[in-house]
Amino acid sequence: MTKVTMNNDNRSIWVFGDYRNYFQNRVTLQLLARARELAPRIGAAVCAVIFGNHVDEYIREYIAHGAQTVYVCDHPRLKTYAVETFTTLTARLVMRYEPEIFLIGATDFGREFAPRAAKRLKTGLTADCVGLDINETGLLVQTAPSFGGNLIARIITPEARPQMATVRPGTFPERPHDDQATGQVIAIPFPEDIPCDRVRLVHSERKPPREQRIEDARIVICGGRGMGSRTKFKKLFEMARLMGAEVGATRPVVYSRWAEHDSLVGQAGKHVHPQVLFSFGVSGAIQHTAAIHDADLIIAVNKNPHAAIMKMADVAIVADASQFCSALIRELRKRIRE
Ligand SMILES: Cc1cc2nc3c(=O)[nH]c(=O)nc-3n(C[C@H](O)[C@H](O)[C@H](O)COP(=O)(O)OP(=O)(O)OC[C@H]3O[C@@H](n4cnc5c(N)ncnc54)[C@H](O)[C@@H]3O)c2cc1C
Repeated sequence: MTKVTMNNDNRSIWVFGDYRNYFQNRVTLQLLARARELAPRIGAAVCAVIFGNHVDEYIREYIAHGAQTVYVCDHPRLKTYAVETFTTLTARLVMRYEPEIFLIGATDFGREFAPRAAKRLKTGLTADCVGLDINETGLLVQTAPSFGGNLIARIITPEARPQMATVRPGTFPERPHDDQATGQVIAIPFPEDIPCDRVRLVHSERKPPREQRIEDARIVICGGRGMGSRTKFKKLFEMARLMGAEVGATRPVVYSRWAEHDSLVGQAGKHVHPQVLFSFGVSGAIQHTAAIHDADLIIAVNKNPHAAIMKMADVAIVADASQFCSALIRELRKRIRE
């Protein structure tokens, strides 16, 4: 690969290479594309940072998608993500190379790793950005929804460096793959003095993908704590099977492990826009409803007629959620037999 010359003061925008689930997860490529648009406005080069073991394939891919320089640390200890090791290594590299801007995808990985890195570097972090720009003074303007999506905040980091942001996947389009692109690769030796993580990954297994993504479902059935128990919550899966729907959940449900984390609907989870959304035993907290506003029709079942969800619902049914669910399943089964 040919070497690219960095500008005089070596200003750079860094993008963290999150290549897990690579072909589904395109956020690194999207960030490289946006970084290339912003970089000329502050006279910076665009760099990707990769930690892993045998990651040459990703180096080539990042250069083809806009990285002018790739910092790569390739070592068996980096084969799987280990938060403490990744944080320490990142902090050391950032302190050494002093990028102006550091962008990370707002994936589950990025949401864990970025705040730790920002804390270690004593800089700010804007989480879950939906826009990035450069203002007239050359600062990164980080646009992020706040207060449950009711406000859009534009945030700058005037003094601390780097200016750090996590960005939601899908916010920016990626650049076309350019086979002819060239870039500089800087190999970083793994610092052996980094202590091993206190948490050791023993085994990991890829979860089978959902049949359809909840974000794309025409019918979504959301369950909240008012379903009462894990056993009662399971009725929602049966109802979903009968209707061809996807099940969503509120945060207490996910925390109680009645449903998987990828079912979480809300500010910290998925945004849905179905034709019909059923809501069972959900209070309607803003952090949840911020993500269901786009549903065409909301049918809510709650024992409390004054619950916030009942006010936003098109059809509000005052009933016990679990009992109503059982009755609806019986009715659906009858109709399916007909
Ligand atoms: C920074 C932050 C981010 C957050 N992000 C999210 C997010 O992404 N998604 C999310 O969901 N939450 C999120 N939350 C949590 C959110 O604020 C609420 O606490 C949560 O949505 C409440 O969940 P719930 O409605 O299931 O439970 P509860 O608030 O406990 O409500 C249960 C509802 O069930 C009803 N009920 C009880 N028993 C029955 C019954 N037998 N039959 C019918 N109805 C019944 C009650 O009347 C009540 O309305 C976030 C909070 C914070 C601070």
